[in-house]
Amino acid sequence: MRKLYLYNTLSKSKEEFNPIKDDQVGLYTCGPTVYNYAHIGNLRSYIFADFLARVLRYNFGQNRLLWVMNITDVDDKTIRDSKIKYPDMDSMPALKKLTSEYEGIFWQDMEKMNILKPNKVTHAADDYYILKMQDLVKKIVEKGYGYVKEGSVYFNVKKYSNNHSYGKLINLDVSNLKLGVSVEADEYEKENVQDFVLWKGRKSDEPFWEFLLNNESLPGRPGWHIECSAMGEAELGMPFDIHTGGIDLKFPHHENEIAQSIIGYNVAEPVNFWIHNDHLLVDGQRMGKRFKNFYTTKDLEEKGFKPLVYRFYCMQTNYGKQMNFTWEGLKASQEGLNHLYNQVKELIEVSDNQRENLGVSDGSFDLINKDFKNEFIESINDDLNMSKALAVLQKTIKSNLSKKEKLNTILDFDKVLGLDIEKEIYNQPISDEINDLIKQREKFRREKNWSESDRLREEIEKLGYGVEDGKDGMRIIKK
Ligand code: AMP
Ligand code: ZN
Repeated sequence: MRKLYLYNTLSKSKEEFNPIKDDQVGLYTCGPTVYNYAHIGNLRSYIFADFLARVLRYNFGQNRLLWVMNITDVDDKTIRDSKIKYPDMDSMPALKKLTSEYEGIFWQDMEKMNILKPNKVTHAADDYYILKMQDLVKKIVEKGYGYVKEGSVYFNVKKYSNNHSYGKLINLDVSNLKLGVSVEADEYEKENVQDFVLWKGRKSDEPFWEFLLNNESLPGRPGWHIECSAMGEAELGMPFDIHTGGIDLKFPHHENEIAQSIIGYNVAEPVNFWIHNDHLLVDGQRMGKRFKNFYTTKDLEEKGFKPLVYRFYCMQTNYGKQMNFTWEGLKASQEGLNHLYNQVKELIEVSDNQRENLGVSDGSFDLINKDFKNEFIESINDDLNMSKALAVLQKTIKSNLSKKEKLNTILDFDKVLGLDIEKEIYNQPISDEINDLIKQREKFRREKNWSESDRLREEIEKLGYGVEDGKDGMRIIKK
């Protein structure tokens, strides 16, 4: 097996990846905060996570990966917007209503980009995980790294940084830290490094959960950072293999996750590999809701682009680099992807009968070219070099292998690329009706009953398919 190399933010270098456990690869992805539509910058982050998940499955086997993604459905922003959108409702049902609406849209977007659903989706506002978060807060306080102030619980960063390296993901300077100065907001800049909040005391118009800490009643809700630490540990144990997110999450979110887990779960490092995607930009600025410069999947569709084109677009730039979005760039990707589909369509030269025999989906391994496959693996295993992987695909198409071998090899690559090639080239699903007509026509052709065969050709054409007869049988193409 070829080695897999991934860029680890922890060591700031490409490292060989080996799972901690023999029977499982654990991957945690910071999921969306569901208070609005995801923009295509957010989706770049999940397309990257999907490539990573597919590459891990390709390397270690389909069933070995346990991919966990959380949904942040309680935090400052979800609460703020639920109050605005549903002012007449009680705070908890308003929050649930807003977050479930946007979560639904999020999964639709994910499907359109062919992002496979993670094995486990965890909701921060789920009572089960709230208890896990509270347990973690208790442990941190018991160990002397958390303190209560005005009904909220904070993490003592100054104390932690005396004997741990706080800020290692971004090389933070902590020399100016003051004791007991705390920040209540979930998000803040690195210039503002202070004690961060683990548990936020109840505000009268906000959703809350009961919490008993050392016999003190502290109704409230979790801070954002504690959510991911607790959900990651609950599903994957500690330490686990890989944690992903966009680079803006390195600080404070991931830094704080590390600190909480090291203290609360008693581990030297909670995660072996931290992997971050860089941002999608528009006109040189990061795409973001607060910058009001964002596009959603709906915007792409309204301009006539299939969302999958954006996935293909994302393959042109390594996830670890900034990528500037332009409509011209997207247009070029649309042309590139259509060209690819047409190239692969040229490889289908088989009758319906033979098509069944291809066995493409369940992997006719002897028909997958080993040399090209090796080259493909080398590309994806070099820190997910997807543009190189596409170049290997082109090389395969232009090689002198048989059409059948090319097709099988390409469809195998598509397990990682996720471009829906099989579906596109066959314009699947071909209905049972068409399949029956094809079979009947094959029979007439074998019997040299040309008039019946012509009649069925017309019938198939009426249903929107072109029929070409070649020496290997007939070829069916959707018009
Ligand atoms: P959020 O829903 O705001 O929590 O963000 C979801 C994910 O999108 C996080 O991993 C962010 O780091 C990532 N993200 C946000 N903006 C961008 C962007 N412009 N480009 C790429 N990733 C982004
Ligand atoms: Zn997170």
